[in-house]
Amino acid sequence: MNARTALCIDDDPVVHDLIDFHLEGVVDRILHAEHPASGLSLASHEAPDVILLDVEMPYMDGFQVCRELKQMSVTRDIPVIFLTSDNATHHVARGLDLGGADYVIKPFVAIELQARVRAALRTRRMIELLRVHARVDALTGLKNRGALEEALARQAAGVARKGGGYAVVMLDVDHFKRVNDTYGHGIGDEVLRQLGAVLGASCRPADMATRYGGEEFALVLADTSQEAAIGVCERLLAAIRAIRVPVPGGEFGFTISAGLAMAGGEYPADDVLQRADEALYHAKELGRDRLVIWTLAPADDTGG
Ligand SMILES: [Mg+2]
Repeated sequence: MNARTALCIDDDPVVHDLIDFHLEGVVDRILHAEHPASGLSLASHEAPDVILLDVEMPYMDGFQVCRELKQMSVTRDIPVIFLTSDNATHHVARGLDLGGADYVIKPFVAIELQARVRAALRTRRMIELLRVHARVDALTGLKNRGALEEALARQAAGVARKGGGYAVVMLDVDHFKRVNDTYGHGIGDEVLRQLGAVLGASCRPADMATRYGGEEFALVLADTSQEAAIGVCERLLAAIRAIRVPVPGGEFGFTISAGLAMAGGEYPADDVLQRADEALYHAKELGRDRLVIWTLAPADDTGG
């Protein structure tokens, strides 16, 4: 969704009418709040792309609203444009120091207001792109470890709120060093890309496949039972055995080892990654090319 939303917080209804009029075509949707508290609530629930914030309001001035916006993670990076009256330009420096992106002096000059809103939207878009790139592994296009940690926190919060369970799978390419030593790092990268493509394709929208680091990957399988998660993993192992990597004079295949751990119910969420990693270690010890499931009893080999 690329619809751009602006939120206007101002105690003067006339300002809202002017904003509606002047910003038509600049943004797709305009939200309105005439009270600071309702403005803060709208900002945190709707996460607009830009906030037009009146400095002078009763009960809570715009500076205080801005301070609160900058304290909430969901609103922290939304550009704030202060609306200030022409006899109060001394407010400008304070507003910018508090993290405001810009200011507009009332009464508005339409083209100036529009240009400043467009500039703020460009800033917002840039922040979004940076955030996306910071969470993506360049080689495989999968999410990276930072994104995994966020996904695990989200899953843990979801299970705490509404029950159910999810699975975390740690996967590692068997004898990856041998691939690099035999065929070179270019082919090693190709192995990781192909593996990443299979992992990415195996995910439902709520799942997440990530490159954990090096030749190690992690899957988060949302809202699943252990039986269903085992099914996903067994299909993955089979799909990966079928991959053929072309090399000069032929092709070769590779295998992975996997460790699965559940979170939710009797299994705590906080050490689920570590348990999946322990299970992966067992899979390696037991001869690789297999899935091991972490259980409360000693780790159990399902074969494979
Ligand atoms: Mg006012």
